Amino acid sequence: MSLFKLLRISGPSRFSARSAAYVGKAKYDYDLVVLGGGSAGLACAKEAVDSGARVLCFDYVKPTPAGTRWGLGGTCVNVGCIPKKLMHQASLLGEAVHEAVAYGWNVNDQNIKPDWKKLVKSVQNHIKSVNWVTRVDLRDKKVEYVNSMGAFVDPHTIEYSVKGGGPKQQVTSEYIVVAVGGRPRYPPILGATEFGITSDDIFSYEEEPGRTLVVGAGYVGLECACFLKGLGYDPTVMVRSIVLRGFDRQMSDLLEAMMSERGVHFLHTTIPSSVERQGDGRLLVKYRNTTTEQEDSDIFDTVLWAIGRKGLIEDLNLPAAGVQTKNDKIVVDGTEATNVPHIFAVGDIIHGRPELTPVAILSGRLLARRLFAGSKQLMDYADVATTVFTPLEYSCVGMSEEMAIQTHGQDNIEVFHGYYKPTEFFIPQKSVRQCYLKAVAEITGDQKILGLHYIGPVAGEVIQGFAAALKSGLTVKTLLNTVGIHPTTAEEFTRLSITKRSGRDPTPSSCCS
Ligand code: FAD
Ligand code: NDP
Repeated sequence: MSLFKLLRISGPSRFSARSAAYVGKAKYDYDLVVLGGGSAGLACAKEAVDSGARVLCFDYVKPTPAGTRWGLGGTCVNVGCIPKKLMHQASLLGEAVHEAVAYGWNVNDQNIKPDWKKLVKSVQNHIKSVNWVTRVDLRDKKVEYVNSMGAFVDPHTIEYSVKGGGPKQQVTSEYIVVAVGGRPRYPPILGATEFGITSDDIFSYEEEPGRTLVVGAGYVGLECACFLKGLGYDPTVMVRSIVLRGFDRQMSDLLEAMMSERGVHFLHTTIPSSVERQGDGRLLVKYRNTTTEQEDSDIFDTVLWAIGRKGLIEDLNLPAAGVQTKNDKIVVDGTEATNVPHIFAVGDIIHGRPELTPVAILSGRLLARRLFAGSKQLMDYADVATTVFTPLEYSCVGMSEEMAIQTHGQDNIEVFHGYYKPTEFFIPQKSVRQCYLKAVAEITGDQKILGLHYIGPVAGEVIQGFAAALKSGLTVKTLLNTVGIHPTTAEEFTRLSITKRSGRDPTPSSCCS
């Protein structure tokens, strides 16, 4: 039998190997059933098994309206962080080729273009390898896996279908963790699902996207528009209200300016009304400006909805378990417990928490440790760092300037800021107009830092370490007493000497001032 066949478990065996201390209640088939094999569910399941729990994990992906489907591992691996980062990198490499010429490389054909189909294939091959490793990892760790939707029959019983049909099966469990994540929303307008695609489709899209309308100006909208632009396509972002609502305004405006400078178009205060397929196959999109009430239309090759994500609660039959929901998310307390004490939820499906992979992973892992290894440690959702992967990336941790003003009062905060010029930008004469950073701090004492914001190269790599410092109580005094690493862009944080209040010009005069 092939290794692949061995891994294809069609139903759960009742005889999991038990390696460590946890002793469950014999009356249940399992100590833990996890619904959802994404970042949160897999982290929780693997950690629980390490503590000796008998664990079964369900994962099933419904195809998108365009027919896209994928394997085990959830959003991040298949249609989220990982393919997005690879496409982002592909687009940055295009920029690098042009910069290389200024650095003396003989690149003969400067009009080189990426091969979309080849890129998609490479990205998909990588994803398949991750799917495979994930399955092997589950098998090695002795987490039982069923490739099926799970739904509640009662608070301790989950029902599922087996491959090839037949009557539905049921399993019981002492604890149940819901980690079903979310999927992109489609607007309720004519042609939306028929002709539009989402981030669930774009990373495996066989056609070149061409002239693309990206509807939505959150993380997904901006990131997709940017990698499409970098790969040589022509994206337009349709913005309903403002770009990156919820983020620091000044930084969001700078990011939008950076995108415009690179040729991404924006349609402001605009919402779509319909999408129709024309005779030539292209898409006619009608839309309305909500400020002017003017109606207009344009033609695109691709329409990509990036209008947020809805939690996948509808197939769970939650009423059978009595679990409380809000909008399409599950309500939990500080221990990730729902209103039903033995049912928990982690990851994107939780109401009111950041939808980020590291959050999903850590909360899943900590929950398993509390359930099966006697831990008391709770997930800390405060000060989670994040990055928007645009060509100049934006990364931040802690409060926006607006939030700091709101919580502390304008007179009680100090904002240190500065534009800077990355050394490597000089030779290719890259625009430095949006290379900017700021620290939002308390005004008194050593000036505890409340938020750090950075737009520039490799923002995620820069902010990650500062995030640990901020969580440890970083002050402006400590930051400015930290010796920088020269010449880096991260060192700019150690040179932040100008406050907004001073009114001094935050523009640097040279590379080493
Ligand atoms: P998921 O990963 O969505 O996993 C849930 C799984 O459960 C899915 O496989 C689903 O099909 C399955 N399922 C659903 N219902 C059932 C059921 N009833 N029974 C069985 N299985 C079920 N985060 C970052 O930190 N950094 C990034 O750069 C980043 N980029 C992103 C880019 C995009 C385009 C998107 C869409 C998201 C991105 N995210 C990023 C967010 C990140 O992907 C999510 O926060 C993370 O994947 C959430 O993990 P989860 O386990 O909660 O849910
Ligand atoms: P967001 O909620 O971040 O953004 C949704 C966008 O769509 C907003 O601009 C919103 O406008 C707009 N919108 C909503 N409804 C409509 C509508 N009916 N018509 C037109 N526009 C509409 O969702 P995303 O899908 O971008 O991202 C989901 C989550 O995934 C993020 O919150 C993030 O946590 C995670 N993610 C993380 C990434 C990262 O870490 N780099 C990358 C990608 C995703 P308005 O402001 O007016 O509501």
